[in-house]
Amino acid sequence: EDNRRESLMIVSGYAAKYFHESLLDTDEGQSIGLSYFKERGFTNDTIKKFELGYSPDQWEAFSASAIRNGYQEEFLVESGLSVKRDNGTLYDRYRGRVMFPIHSFTGRVIAFGGRTLKTDKAVPKYVNSPESEIYHKSNILYGLYFAKKSIREEDNCYLVEGYADVLSVSQAGIENVVASSGTSLTVEQIKLINRFTKNITILYDGDAAGIKASLRGLDMILEQGLNVKVVSFPDGHDPDSYVRKLGTNAFKKHIEENKKDFILYKTSLLLKDAGGDPIKKADVIREVVESIAKIPDSIKASVFIKECSHIMQIDERALLSELNKMRMAKA
Ligand code: ATP
Ligand code: MN
Ligand code: MN
Ligand code: MN
Repeated sequence: EDNRRESLMIVSGYAAKYFHESLLDTDEGQSIGLSYFKERGFTNDTIKKFELGYSPDQWEAFSASAIRNGYQEEFLVESGLSVKRDNGTLYDRYRGRVMFPIHSFTGRVIAFGGRTLKTDKAVPKYVNSPESEIYHKSNILYGLYFAKKSIREEDNCYLVEGYADVLSVSQAGIENVVASSGTSLTVEQIKLINRFTKNITILYDGDAAGIKASLRGLDMILEQGLNVKVVSFPDGHDPDSYVRKLGTNAFKKHIEENKKDFILYKTSLLLKDAGGDPIKKADVIREVVESIAKIPDSIKASVFIKECSHIMQIDERALLSELNKMRMAKA
């Protein structure tokens, strides 16, 4: 119901303001949260723009303040900001974490990601809001509200994995950047991007998980008729760490020099894995043609067939007949 949704957004907005002020105006927030963000290289402008915050390291500081200010328990609990104990009292979900508010694409705060400052492996690095009436994580891209204008202007959307990647890349002047925030990309997220551009450039982490993630998910983007490019980063780096290492200009240069079309990227990567094994190579060919078969535009598909036939050193006609077989099976 609309009233409930509005109440949830109001309490989330209050929380964002509470965490933001706690970051900027309290001793604990400044010495722990703010100094952490500064160490990571985030400027005051970035901190303000994205409404970054800090949750005090106490059990009830936020919940008590919200109740004192007249916010209803029901919405505090439904939004996941507060958790109810068996005895009926509330405690704070986020304690001693730096806070990343998640905005709807109209700019309302609808959820949070909170990062621990501890290095203890037993503590989850990020805690995120649970699903609620206003927050369905499969329909949300972190940063979209701030990025959409630039996505339209640049006619391209950079897709990264994490909150910090969005902040650093955006701060470097590349504002057309959003994150899937840990979940693998969904059709709904692709449709959101499709409202602003047909071009996606994936900047995933340079670790095995990041590379795998970029191979999955992506056929789905092709199916939606979008163009996908991929940029890889050296192992151990993500866009956030790499832009800080290289600086803005060298980072942009890295993107320009390393961006590869997804199909060609996938083909080379799989071929390298297959080594000289002819059976594995046949599997690679089928897998690549399977991706190409997902492209709705048949002219675009045939261009890829041609290019892949070069890379894989296989007759173009053989690939084409495989493509037609797959299309027929699908129809
Ligand atoms: P940082 O740079 O702050 O260490 P990151 O964004 O590089 O964080 P990754 O480990 O690369 O962190 O994870 C990418 C994204 O996945 C995170 O930004 C977060 O949205 C999500 N994520 C990571 N760990 C968790 C977790 N334990 N629970 C829920 N989401 C997580
Ligand atoms: Mn990672
Ligand atoms: Mn990172
Ligand atoms: Mn990362």
